[in-house]
Amino acid sequence: MRKPIIAGNWKMNKRLSEAKTFAESLIPLVNTINDCDIIIAPPFTYLSALDDILKSSSISLSAQTMSHELAGAFTGDISAVMITDCGCKYVIIGHSEQRLYHQETNQACQEKCKVAMQNKLTPIYCVGESLKERTNNITLTVIQKQILECITDLPLDSQEIIIAYEPVWAIGTGKVATPEEAQAVHQFIRQTIEKAKGTEIANKTRILYGGSVKPANIEDLINQADIDGALVGGACLELDSFVELIKKTNYVTH
Ligand code: PEP
Repeated sequence: MRKPIIAGNWKMNKRLSEAKTFAESLIPLVNTINDCDIIIAPPFTYLSALDDILKSSSISLSAQTMSHELAGAFTGDISAVMITDCGCKYVIIGHSEQRLYHQETNQACQEKCKVAMQNKLTPIYCVGESLKERTNNITLTVIQKQILECITDLPLDSQEIIIAYEPVWAIGTGKVATPEEAQAVHQFIRQTIEKAKGTEIANKTRILYGGSVKPANIEDLINQADIDGALVGGACLELDSFVELIKKTNYVTH
C-alpha cells in the first residue's frame, strides 16, 4: 500500500509574514487528514520559522534543493545538515528549474540524493521530458536515463526515494498531461525501478505527478494505478486550493 502525498513547491514566492500565516491557517484545516502525507517546500529562509509553527502538526517540511557538499567554501550553497537542522524531512532534487537555471545534471542529482539519504532526508527526485523530446518521441528514453543515472547506486533497500514525474511542458503552463499520458509514464518509471532494484522496491516507491495540477484535475490523475499524489506549484500557493487538493487525495491509496 502506498500512502499518497500532496507536496507544495512554493518556489521563490511569499514574504515571511505570508508564509507564517499560511502555515498557521493550514494546520486546523487539515488536522483530520490521516491518509495523505502533506509536504510544503518553502524557500530556505522561511524553513526555521515554519518548523516552529509546524513541528506539532503532521505537515512536513521540504527544501527545494541542496548542495552535494557538506561544508566549506561554497558561497551561496546550503547543505543537507543545514536543512535538517531547520526541520526538513524531504528535499526536492532535479527540479526542471534547477536543471535549466543551475545546470543540474543527472549525475549531480545522484550525488545530491546520496548525500540527502546519508543525512536522513528523503529526496523527491524530479524527472520529465521537454516538449521537443515528447514531439520527437523520445520521452521514455529521456525518463529512463534520468531514473537510472540517479537511482542505480542509491540504497533503496533501506531508504525511500520519492519520484516526481513532471513533464517540463506542463509546468506552470496550464497544460496538464492527460491521466492516460501520465499513467503510461508512471507505469514505465515503476517498471524501470523494478528492473534496476527489484519488485518490492518498485512497488513501494511513491511516484508523484507534477505539472499544472489543480483541484479540477487531481481526481482523474490520482485515480490512475501508478500515480501516488502530486507535486504542485501554482495551486499550492493559495490555501483553499492546496487544502482542496489534499482533501481530494486523502481517500486514494494504491
Ligand atoms: C512544479 O514546479 O513543480 C510544478 C508542478 O508547477 P505547477 O504546478 O505550477 O505546474
